[in-house]
Amino acid sequence: MFSFEFFPPRGPKSQARLWRAIREIEALGPSFVSVTYGAGGGTRDLTVETTERIATDTTLLPVAHMTLVDHSVAELRHLIGRLSDAGVSNMLAVRGDPPGDPTGEWVRHPEGLTYAEELVRLLKDSGDFSVGVAAFPYKHPRSADIETDTDYFVRKCEAGADYAITQMFFDVEDYLRLRDRVAARGCEVPIIPEVFPVVKLASIPHSEKLSGAPFPPELARRYESLGDDPEAVRAFGIEYAQRMCERLLEEGAPGIHFITFNQSTATREIYREVAPRSSAGATARP
Ligand code: FAD
Repeated sequence: MFSFEFFPPRGPKSQARLWRAIREIEALGPSFVSVTYGAGGGTRDLTVETTERIATDTTLLPVAHMTLVDHSVAELRHLIGRLSDAGVSNMLAVRGDPPGDPTGEWVRHPEGLTYAEELVRLLKDSGDFSVGVAAFPYKHPRSADIETDTDYFVRKCEAGADYAITQMFFDVEDYLRLRDRVAARGCEVPIIPEVFPVVKLASIPHSEKLSGAPFPPELARRYESLGDDPEAVRAFGIEYAQRMCERLLEEGAPGIHFITFNQSTATREIYREVAPRSSAGATARP
């Protein structure tokens, strides 16, 4: 199972780039593509519009990310209905972070929900949806420790999640440890590893911000040693991500979910190397 993640466009130029990337990925025939959901404002409508357009104008299977931030239950029901009317039946149920400062205090909408687990239930009660959830190899930054993080992850799965996608990580061992912890609690929900090929030095701090975890220092040193040569950085990043994918698949990961940041070139290069040699069913669907 191979899949790719996009974010909603922020303007006409970004829209054109996104659709170029979507069409390039479509040619590969992946299992699904997902579109992230913003913290608020107009990008939310763009997520819905993009997901609807993928459902109606392409051969791709879209997965719509949904979050709880600033939404009442009535608004969430409306969103589910709108996506469902466009033929979208696959959702990724995540809580979302507070807008502005992702590490700030989480404030529940007065008529909303608090945890992703509740959104999983809402979706499952609303129709025949395939529902994914988020998993965190390094634990979620807000979790007190690995044990409670695992407990709440398993609860989210027991609420009805069909699969999980991890946060990005850079050491395969972190994924394997997460999978073992979850399996040790008797939870068999497939956990799809998310891979982000770092092909620019500038992406390192960005990845730390997104993942809420420090970039592995040894890997950072390796990148920095190539710092003056953007081509060498790119080649190393692609090779590193490719090796990660190969090892993950050898270890029995159910597939790979690639973060594209709406630029498909690096992920397509890796996919072309990895998918033909994999038994993970390139086009299997969740
Ligand atoms: P939850 O599962 O609700 O967990 C949040 C915290 O609460 C954790 O510490 C958990 O251990 C704890 N917890 C859970 N249940 C309970 C409980 N019952 N009682 C007490 N504590 C509990 N963000 C976006 O804004 N848009 C996106 O599109 C988006 N897509 C993502 C895709 C993936 C694959 C991943 C990994 C993350 C994504 N995120 C996205 C980020 C995500 O919204 C944040 O990481 C958020 O802080 C956590 O979301 P969650 O669904 O894991 O929350």
